[in-house]
Amino acid sequence: MDLQYNQEEEQFRAEVRAFLAGWPLRGEEASLPIAEQETLFRSQAIERGYVYRDIPREYGGGGQEPDVLKDHIVRAEFGRAGAPGSSFLQGPAMLAPTLMEFGSEAQRRRFVPPTLREEIRWCQGYSEPGSGSDLASLQCSAALEGDDESGEWVINGQKIWTSNAQNSHWLFGLFRTETDAPKHKGISYLLVPLDQPGVEVRPLKQMTGGLDFNEVFFDDARTGADCIVGERGQGWQVSRATLKHERNLIANPNLMRDHFDAVVDLARTTLRNGRPAILDPGIRQRLSEIECYVRTNETSNLRQLSAAARGEELKCMLPMMMNKLYSTDTMQRLMEIAYELVGADGLLAPSEADLAGYAKGEGPTGWVEQWMFSLGPAIAGGATNIQLNIIGERGYGLPRDQRPTR
Ligand SMILES: Cc1cc2nc3c(=O)[nH]c(=O)nc-3n(C[C@H](O)[C@H](O)[C@H](O)COP(=O)(O)OP(=O)(O)OC[C@H]3O[C@@H](n4cnc5c(N)ncnc54)[C@H](O)[C@@H]3O)c2cc1C
Repeated sequence: MDLQYNQEEEQFRAEVRAFLAGWPLRGEEASLPIAEQETLFRSQAIERGYVYRDIPREYGGGGQEPDVLKDHIVRAEFGRAGAPGSSFLQGPAMLAPTLMEFGSEAQRRRFVPPTLREEIRWCQGYSEPGSGSDLASLQCSAALEGDDESGEWVINGQKIWTSNAQNSHWLFGLFRTETDAPKHKGISYLLVPLDQPGVEVRPLKQMTGGLDFNEVFFDDARTGADCIVGERGQGWQVSRATLKHERNLIANPNLMRDHFDAVVDLARTTLRNGRPAILDPGIRQRLSEIECYVRTNETSNLRQLSAAARGEELKCMLPMMMNKLYSTDTMQRLMEIAYELVGADGLLAPSEADLAGYAKGEGPTGWVEQWMFSLGPAIAGGATNIQLNIIGERGYGLPRDQRPTR
């Protein structure tokens, strides 16, 4: 593993740093609402070819040759500067790369540029009340009325746990279109506008006080026949592409390191028996153990990066699954310590400030909310038990776990 950048990469890093000196914005631009400032800065970053690097210019991206090390430099430098880079929203992070892989030319031109600019906001409609881990059993149906060109899909049924649907314009999701086909082959991947009479979005209140989740009901909702991504019945395959990007999004090693450092600071500033909690041998032991996981995760990610830089394709999804498993598990253990450190103050959560933050669409900020929130990513994008089974069975050739009989 070679951890040094070469001269060209160092020069690229210096350029990126010089560009990032412009964040936060100054002068008149600094008085714009923060979301507008972020959009403005991100557009400049796209123009320079720093973010959405390998999406061609004609689809609104940076138009650069793929280069994993430059991607890595951009991610690290943007993260260090706290600057808005590639967005974590479902549209730019999950749908845009899926459309680049499976979408038609017309779909790419219509949807990718406004998605990267965040003018169209998307949510992901996969899960249903009876279909989560066993997603292929989904029942929400779409029937084609008319022909492939000018017809419409008519959609009926329900989705659940649809993150951010309340703030989204469109939904990308899985629908049963081939009623006679075996369950994995009867599913199609459709793009559906939410602002129409046949769609009702009902928010679900979470224990954090936030309203990030929704139920989405379809009652003869409609979308164009041309809004199918891939072929009829190919939705399962298309959704695997989106899932790959979702897991990568959840398993961000920089985030894990930032959270670890923040919890160490909390332990330094919180008192236990009149002394900083960091001096408590129990807390020290647990933090050291977690730091080993944080470092192992960083090293594993660097190993994958080195392999990618050498042009070695990852042969399967297992490393990504392990990254996800590892980071969500470590994050939970870390947040558990934070929750313990805040002690009785935790009883007051969520605070007025946290609730106000939620109302503005910000994520969890208080420690207790972050602890509650840390439980979710271990379920989203494939629950931990399922990931463990796949890694054990397909990765290590262990005997198959018992399957429920249906
Ligand atoms: C933070 C968060 C965000 C989400 N966002 C979205 C979204 O935007 N769009 C969307 O469509 N969905 C979303 N989801 C839903 C998510 O995809 C599902 O929660 C997930 O697939 C699990 O499904 P389930 O909740 O029905 O649990 P179940 O599938 O009922 O699982 C319950 C438990 O049983 C275990 N289990 C189930 N089957 C097996 C098996 N065969 N072997 C071993 N153990 C098993 C699971 O591991 C889990 O512990 C989100 C979930 C979370 C937590």
